[in-house]
Amino acid sequence: MKANMKAKKWLGQNFLKNKITLREIADAAEISSRDTILEIGPGHGELTEILASRAKKIVAVEKDADLIRLLREKFQKQKNVKILQGDILKFHLGYSDEFLGHSGRYKIVANLPYYITSRFLRIFLSDKKLRPALAVLMLQYEVAKRICARPPEMNLLALSVQAYGRPKFVKKVSKKYFSPEPKVDSGIIKISEISDRWFKQNDIAPEKFFEILQAAFRQKRKMLRHSLKKFPIPEIFSEKRPQELPLEDWKKLINYRD
Ligand code: SAM
Repeated sequence: MKANMKAKKWLGQNFLKNKITLREIADAAEISSRDTILEIGPGHGELTEILASRAKKIVAVEKDADLIRLLREKFQKQKNVKILQGDILKFHLGYSDEFLGHSGRYKIVANLPYYITSRFLRIFLSDKKLRPALAVLMLQYEVAKRICARPPEMNLLALSVQAYGRPKFVKKVSKKYFSPEPKVDSGIIKISEISDRWFKQNDIAPEKFFEILQAAFRQKRKMLRHSLKKFPIPEIFSEKRPQELPLEDWKKLINYRD
């Protein structure tokens, strides 16, 4: 069955064939026998197998019905693996509580289908019922690097992720390790300490944070005194451009009162 099955491009199906890299993804998640793991897009179940040998429970959500059949067969006897068919972007609407327990207590491990990256991050970082404690993700190399950026190369995606957790670039992975081979290389990142603590401790509403950041990055070549005309900002930031400010400076800027 597997041999005849053609990869579905529209589902981002680039299967990782390199065993060492599969193990490195699992290693980065520092899995213990008490962990519950949500795997997104298990594909043929190669990564799932490794995760299942290390964790207490794996919940693997796959959208492709053809792969679901194969996965159910493969993990039939493995009691700690639960295969669910569905779209991970709709997971929050259904059964997340039932399978994962409380948010903040489980880990996400995924070789993500690239077309869902931004929507996936938005949902799983901002929804407090879904937020994991840690996520290890294989992403497009450029996107992985962008998320881990530092000043003067900050960007909206990096700040959005860094406000909720600590992203770390783990490793570049050659496109040669995938089948079918994608156009670009990939990168593994690990986001630890995921929570909304930064917002709470600094008394910043996420809506306000994103409103100001979007206004600044919409005109990223302009100095903040121009792009943020509508908002009072401290003098020290007025000649800066948004990519020059680390998260801690955005805290000062957002909490500034005239
Ligand atoms: N984990 C496998 C591996 O490492 O080789 C497959 C990774 S492949 C990049 C992405 C997988 O995600 C595919 O199996 C694809 O069918 C699945 N997928 C695509 N969109 C999805 C979605 N919205 N929800 C859940 N799974 C999805």
